[in-house]
Amino acid sequence: MGVKVGVLALQGDVAEHIAAFRDALSDRPGSSVVPLRKAADLAGLDALAIPGGESTTISRLIVKNGLYEALREFEGGVFATCAGMVLTADRVDDTRVRPLGLIPMRVERNAFGRQVDSREALLEVKGLAEPFRAVFIRAPVATEVGPGVEVLARIPEGIVAARSGRHMAFAFHPELGGDLRLHRMFLQGLEV
Ligand code: GLN
Repeated sequence: MGVKVGVLALQGDVAEHIAAFRDALSDRPGSSVVPLRKAADLAGLDALAIPGGESTTISRLIVKNGLYEALREFEGGVFATCAGMVLTADRVDDTRVRPLGLIPMRVERNAFGRQVDSREALLEVKGLAEPFRAVFIRAPVATEVGPGVEVLARIPEGIVAARSGRHMAFAFHPELGGDLRLHRMFLQGLEV
């Protein structure tokens, strides 16, 4: 059966998420990937991607567009990267972000220090047979996770990949670079 994925399209690397999910779903007839800007667009979605970008800006736009409660109540799976990871947390070190509380974890923004803008690392991710080339851009880390959250990858700075039920959050950008193994892992998780 086809899968319907929405990509929160308020700010950030929306086009890259749409392209990556379209690619990951190309072998599943009847699937679609659509941008999401208002609460009504959530109807019928199996999953939602929350992109990288600027979490303070995305957070402000979520509230302004009347999406805050609707996103908190979304019952599908959430695939969140970078700024998206900040937004899905329940505790964030920056009061300008109103976190959605979808994953019980504490997240620290820009956790690599101001001088480190971006970095690539070959990362061991639980569930993947081979390491993943992860691109970090002014990335957050999770410093603490609650019960039921599975840590999928960790570096000295903190937790950089986590799963909680059908939700997955990454401090890096699996939507960049063409390696879709984490998208496939996420899509498989929607079926259980
Ligand atoms: N530093 C950004 C934030 O906290 C996230 C950066 C990104 O998404 N690439 O909002």
